[in-house]
Amino acid sequence: MRWRKSSASEQNKGKGQPDLFSHIKKDIPVLRQQGAPPEKDPGTFSRYQCDLCNGSFSLTGLKQCTLCGRWACPDCWTDEFYICRSCNGIVRLHLLSQQQQKGKARE
Ligand SMILES: [Zn+2]
Ligand SMILES: [Zn+2]
Repeated sequence: MRWRKSSASEQNKGKGQPDLFSHIKKDIPVLRQQGAPPEKDPGTFSRYQCDLCNGSFSLTGLKQCTLCGRWACPDCWTDEFYICRSCNGIVRLHLLSQQQQKGKARE
């Protein structure tokens, strides 16, 4: 039995820009598997390291980026796409180039 063609798009319902993110994911190397714990700060007992600035934070202060899998502290985190700053820069570049392409197509 074949899968209906519509099943893929139904799964993406409700998500922001699934096409954009699946496209961008190819450009971003995964540095940590989703669900893998952050690096423990060797100098303290209960703190973990931000993968971007190497600062030490409590586990509750860190969030895992959904694109590259790095753990980011509040300073290295962006809520806009729920990803780290590094990936946010890449996403923004993609958005910009997409907008420019659309603008050119209109001419
Ligand atoms: Zn940080
Ligand atoms: Zn990231």
